[in-house]
Order: sequence, then C-alpha cells, then structure tokens
Amino acid sequence: MSSRELADLVRNIPDFPLPGINFKDITTLIGNGPAFQQVITLLTDRYRDRGITAVAGIESRGFIFGAPLALNLGVGLVPVRKPGKLPADTYQVEYALEYGTNKLEIHRDAFEPGAQVLVIDDLLATGGTIVAAKQLIEQAGGTVVELAFVIELTFLNGREKLAPCPIFSLIQY
Ligand code: AMP
Repeated sequence: MSSRELADLVRNIPDFPLPGINFKDITTLIGNGPAFQQVITLLTDRYRDRGITAVAGIESRGFIFGAPLALNLGVGLVPVRKPGKLPADTYQVEYALEYGTNKLEIHRDAFEPGAQVLVIDDLLATGGTIVAAKQLIEQAGGTVVELAFVIELTFLNGREKLAPCPIFSLIQY
C-alpha cells in the first residue's frame, strides 16, 4: 500500500469537534487490517536499530500506535496521560490550547536511568501537545530520540516549535 493509499484511508470530518476544524479520523485507517499492519511495520522498521529503550504514547490515540510498536521493538510502553488517571506519583504539565488549557501527566518513575525514548502520537497539529509531552518525559529522566506521528498537518508549522528535536511523520497533509 502506497503512502497515498494510506492517506486516502484517513477520513475527513468537517467541523468536528468545533466549527472550522477539519478532523482527521484515523478509525477508518486502523479499521483496515493491512493498512494498520503497514503503519506499524513502517514505524518498526524505522526504529528497530536506533537504540530505543522505551516508547512513550500520548493519550489516547498515541496508545493505539505505541502499543504494537513497543511490542515489535521489544521495549516497554510508557503512557503520557490526561490528569487524574495515573495512580502513582506523577509530574504534571499544563499547556495552552487554541481555547483554554490542557494538562498531561507521567509517572515520576516511568523510565530507567538513561532511557532512550521514542514518543508517538497520532497527529501533529500546532505542536502544543507534543512540546508538553516532551517536557514531561525529560523531567522524568528520559532522553527523547525522536517524535513520531502517523499524520502531520504541515500547514500548521508544528515542526518549528519542536526544532531541533528530530520529527518523523508517515502521512502529510
Ligand atoms: P496539537 O497540540 O495542536 O499538535 O494537537 C495535537 C493533538 O490534538 C493530537 O493528539 C491530535 O490527536 C489532536 N488533533 C489536533 N488537530 C486535529 C485534527 N485536525 N484532526 C484530528 N486530531 C487532531
């Protein structure tokens, strides 16, 4: 399946969850077995020999891709979650959204010393979420090797916020 065919499996939902937002719906991509498998294979091939010791997935769509990727790489999965979900001691970060603010948390003891972390989420938009997640991961002692996304909305220039951290995306719009 070409990357164009993968891109065509992502469904556009206009005006969700707010007027003016063109929501990229990945359920139509992950609902297609060969497409889901290919996404995970492409990511696994990219990260197999990169010395990754942990995958950090961003709640909740980052978990969908992070879990099979961590399994394939033979490393653990660290969840970066919305507030109040993680039961042990956490670090928390608050970040600005287009309207209002959001929070993310990570367990303080999520990583072994020297952890080399691959961070994954479904989609890079403005970059606010991933900047906050990266901050948390570093606070918990992880070194971020790369930030991976299935989809990147290039016109929002999220990449610029993240420089010089390496970024990879499979599908660009
Ligand atoms: P941002 O912090 O702006 O990079 O937004 C990234 C987060 O919001 C990701 O976790 C995405 O799942 C979600 N998101 C933002 N914009 C969209 C969109 N147009 N379609 C689907 N998800 C989006």
